[in-house]
Amino acid sequence: MAKITRRSLTKSKLTAPRRVKKSRNRPAVSQGREKPAKKPATKPGHSRATRKSIKAIKAWTPAEVREAFSRFRKANPEPKGELEHLNPYTLLVAVVLSAQATDAGVNKATRALFEVADTPQKMLEPGEEKLRDYIRTIGLYRNKAKNVIALSKKLIAEFGGEVPRTRAEIESLPGAGRKTANVVLNMAYGEHTMAVDTHVFRVANRTGLAPGNTPLEVELELERVVPAEFKPHAHHWLILHGRYTCLARKPRCEVCLINDLCRWPEKTV
Ligand code: SF4
Repeated sequence: MAKITRRSLTKSKLTAPRRVKKSRNRPAVSQGREKPAKKPATKPGHSRATRKSIKAIKAWTPAEVREAFSRFRKANPEPKGELEHLNPYTLLVAVVLSAQATDAGVNKATRALFEVADTPQKMLEPGEEKLRDYIRTIGLYRNKAKNVIALSKKLIAEFGGEVPRTRAEIESLPGAGRKTANVVLNMAYGEHTMAVDTHVFRVANRTGLAPGNTPLEVELELERVVPAEFKPHAHHWLILHGRYTCLARKPRCEVCLINDLCRWPEKTV
């Protein structure tokens, strides 16, 4: 199996086993990014070497997958997302605002905002300029303010002021992409969706649980391998695992619940 170089780890923070030296193809993943990835130089999304590297990882057995999620469940039976919200609409807004921003940073801004604007109608009252003031501390706030106003108008015009319940409809909203839709469908409506952010992407690839070159590939693989009983919470367990244990630069393998199952060649235990 190809070794991952330290240089590549530092450069991109993406430490999936498939990332071999000299591969120029990078999966388009960043925290909450919703724009489609730039097309890589080779089709269908990765080089032959990268593909070979993914295939080289021994797939988890169904029993191992079950064991991993059983341990996550035992340690944290009801994992919660960390984006603060009051209802499906404020969840949608928070997720849109979280693109390339931390949950903590978004929460800091939205606490005051959601006190005055927890519905699309109320969000339009102060207007875009005032909204910008609330979210000024969040990266890309100008564009995000535009999107929040536009999506609020669209919700009122086309969905009776409610957040729709299908992926296609949510994805049709300004600033919302597949990850946003998956988060909202899972957290607001209890769907068994797998939202793949940078943490889930890293953990799924590094461990070999659900390797893929793009968030979509990882999402579909997770849907395939995760048993139904674990699906409602699976993406939260993986996010939290990536955020607090399987850190991008310095994974805490010594305290990792699944270190015996993990396939990452550079794990430290
Ligand atoms: S053993 Fe290390 S690399 Fe593997 S999942 Fe755990 S923290 Fe991540």
